[in-house]
Amino acid sequence: MRQTITKGTSRRQLVAVTKKIEGALISESPDAAALCREVRNELVLGEDEARRFLRRIVLDLNAAYFPAINTVDLMMTDRCTLACTYCFERRMTVKHEMTAETARAAVDFLVDYSGKAEKLYLCLFGGEPLMNFGVMQDCVAYAGKRVAAAGKKVRFDITTNGTLLTEETLDFFAAHGILPLLSVDGLAESHDSCRVDHAGNGSFARVGRAIELVFRKHNYVGVRMTVMPRNVPRFYDDIVGLHKLGVRSFLVGAAIGSDWPDDLMDFYGSELRRVLEWRDREAPKVRLTGDFEGKASHGVFGCRAGRNAVTVSTTGEISACATILGLNSVNLVKKLGDVEFGLTHFRHRFEFATAFRVKENCEKCGIAADYPGGCYANNYEETGDLYLPSLGRYRFEKIRCSHGLVQGAATQ
Ligand code: SF4
Ligand code: SF4
Repeated sequence: MRQTITKGTSRRQLVAVTKKIEGALISESPDAAALCREVRNELVLGEDEARRFLRRIVLDLNAAYFPAINTVDLMMTDRCTLACTYCFERRMTVKHEMTAETARAAVDFLVDYSGKAEKLYLCLFGGEPLMNFGVMQDCVAYAGKRVAAAGKKVRFDITTNGTLLTEETLDFFAAHGILPLLSVDGLAESHDSCRVDHAGNGSFARVGRAIELVFRKHNYVGVRMTVMPRNVPRFYDDIVGLHKLGVRSFLVGAAIGSDWPDDLMDFYGSELRRVLEWRDREAPKVRLTGDFEGKASHGVFGCRAGRNAVTVSTTGEISACATILGLNSVNLVKKLGDVEFGLTHFRHRFEFATAFRVKENCEKCGIAADYPGGCYANNYEETGDLYLPSLGRYRFEKIRCSHGLVQGAATQ
């Protein structure tokens, strides 16, 4: 492509424009459309050619300085059949649906930014992603072909509240090797305490039917469970009860932004341990992840958000992760770019890829030696800054450690 451009353009012109682009990309808020206009005027290009030129330069610079992207979460829709009380989607003032064009552009983005990664992951997310089932089907078919043509493999995941699951949707998932992850917070009392519909009615009866459907099809059900402080006393019984209904995999996460008194958090730590002991004793094949795992161990600072994983919004903007996107969907917090031009916001990409700012702040607080930065979204909710560590999260890691759930993490 650059060869085509160079036919009518001097090398000096090309170098000057490239330098200008590089300079703009490290500003706080690059304007890709304006840059594209400049490229067009200065190199006397057609609109499409100018876009391709800019996209290519952005891609090459990302490849030169940052890790490849192997995971993209796609926000298929901002709408939902439910209105859970803690949902970040509730903050979204304008609700969009992702179009087939945006979904395909997101797939192209993933393939282009995947470097040497051979296994790619596309997570179908929302809102309730099944509210946009037609676009989802198109996207899965397109991704299958596009990724195979690049000599790579793709795995799809979907997180759904289960209210729209049918035999038809499950057949579609089965045909593409997709095992849906159901959002379930426990048995009826726990689940219905927050997971309500738009009229305020609990949704457990509907999700119970979804568990039954998935179990009949796959003989295996996985759930994503958010633990609210008020549900901790029922946590153990919820896990054992859901297991009886067919759930075999639990991805569990405490709602850290809620109010957690020390003694309750400590009790939650002991209940996590109790569940692990139950699993080892009575259900050894059950998979327990999330808060059960030792993720606070040393190694890389920060999480994978913006490093090798990103989220594409319904309108095609790119954020470091779905939860960060939900912090402000109108003016993205630390936006990374969009599917049209790629990861244009270099300054933000650098901050996520290196985690240097969160590390620096953890060092200032004296916690860096035994805490690898936690969750950017938790940080923001507690401190108003993605890179200022949430001491609530730190406290939680200490408690998990005291119950033997985290190796080599905070102990003082
Ligand atoms: S099901 Fe998920 S997207 Fe829908 S309201 Fe609940 S938390 Fe939000
Ligand atoms: S910022 Fe938090 S929610 Fe987002 S990927 Fe990192 S740990 Fe997960």
